Amino acid sequence: MDPIFAGTTRGRTALAGYLTTALDAVGAGVRTRGGPIPAGEPDALARAWAAEFGALLPENGAGPETALTEVVTKLAEGAADPADPACAAHLHCPPLAVAVAADTAVSALNPSLDSWDQAPVASVLEDRLVATLAGLTGYDGDTAGGAVTTGGTESNLMGLLLARDRIVRGLTGTEAPQTGIPAELVGKLRILCSSVAHFSVARSAGLLGLGERAVVPIAVDEADRMRPDALCVELMRVRERGEVPLAVVATAGTTDLGAIDPLEAIAELTYAHRVWFHVDAAYGGGALFSDRLAPLLAGIGRSDSVGLDLHKLGWQPIAAGVFLSRDRTGFRTLDRTVAYLNPADDEAAGYRSRLGLSLRTTRRADAVKIAVTLRAFGRRGLGELVDRCHDLARYAADAIGADPRLELRAEPTLSTVVFRYRPPAGGDPDQANARLRRALLASGKGVVGRTTMPDRSGTAATYLKLTLLNPATTQADLDKLLLDLLGEAELAR
Ligand SMILES: *Cc1c(COP(=O)(O)O)cnc(C)c1O
Repeated sequence: MDPIFAGTTRGRTALAGYLTTALDAVGAGVRTRGGPIPAGEPDALARAWAAEFGALLPENGAGPETALTEVVTKLAEGAADPADPACAAHLHCPPLAVAVAADTAVSALNPSLDSWDQAPVASVLEDRLVATLAGLTGYDGDTAGGAVTTGGTESNLMGLLLARDRIVRGLTGTEAPQTGIPAELVGKLRILCSSVAHFSVARSAGLLGLGERAVVPIAVDEADRMRPDALCVELMRVRERGEVPLAVVATAGTTDLGAIDPLEAIAELTYAHRVWFHVDAAYGGGALFSDRLAPLLAGIGRSDSVGLDLHKLGWQPIAAGVFLSRDRTGFRTLDRTVAYLNPADDEAAGYRSRLGLSLRTTRRADAVKIAVTLRAFGRRGLGELVDRCHDLARYAADAIGADPRLELRAEPTLSTVVFRYRPPAGGDPDQANARLRRALLASGKGVVGRTTMPDRSGTAATYLKLTLLNPATTQADLDKLLLDLLGEAELAR
């Protein structure tokens, strides 16, 4: 078969046709599905789909149109669709059409950000995007650095890596911290974060050779915010034990309640103790676009590093994480001179690569879709979308609070609503809520989240969660979702 490459004149014509085919297939699949997720039990669905997909590596190819139609139709039919208002289980947003269009152009051109000669303008664009978002965060765009990441997981690892190597450099006076953690620090480095921080903080500690036990959990208040008094005590205890605090990780938007740690107070403590301050703003970072919600993040600009996810409150197709650090010189821990990518004389002559800003080598230009979106909507436009999601969460919280069959866990901070169903007397609420969520999933009518949190008496309990990241959702859509949920509860009785 004749290969047609997307970046050529012929390729663009072919691509337009293929895109029409693919989008028609998406439309057909969405119509067959008819709801946010395919109805049915997972085993039966997996068997049906496996039977319908032909061989993935046939001896003779089926051709582009057939392959696209067959696979994409099934993909759409069996998708959990964040564009459906009843799909509200995860921090998983519907992507903006303009961002997807930009991303398609990126796929066609296929720049790679590991060397200047693979991505001349994409490199400049990422640099500008980093400076712009650094400015929004409150860093000085001229001295800050950063890069687009795969998301909060990678951004947290980056923040902790830079923090670790700053300590190692300071202690050993060596510029080559990758030689390993010096003996006097082995088993002594500690990361302090709230007890509800994202799991990737602990996993990063493991990856960085500190062990997951290096994480010191800090108590939270009734709204899941880190308690600065508890942080102060723990920092002191760490020192008393002869350990070394490597970083304090604050969360701006916890995955469940959307709680935002008190960043100003934490900044004060990290300054006093000279500890790296990383803010995991994977979820809450989008609030920076909103005049109404940005004040909740006051103090974020005093951090040493931050991770934002624009594939959450930013409506980007995955992946669109951004890692920023106040002082770009800290990235030198990642920098390498590689003969075939960025030889020193090329760099000196102005052919600057972005190899040393990322853990990856070949790297997609995810900055482009973000840049196009920021320019298309502006800060106000994006802020309005954030506000709409917040308003939807407040509406849902009020509706839940007004229904005696439901119990609201906490007032929403950003756009998530945690609640649970109250089963009739004698029913086990944990089992009832877990079953209810599965029943709604199997009905194909709604996808709500699930989590475990302490209830008001402090006992771990199963809760349900709405993650409202779709600004096109209406109040009527939310009423219907809650009605469908309660309908499943009635059926279960
Ligand atoms: C989503 C999330 C992460 C993980 O981000 P990914 O983009 O999934 O890697 C980390 N921290 C918080 C608070 C999050 O909400």
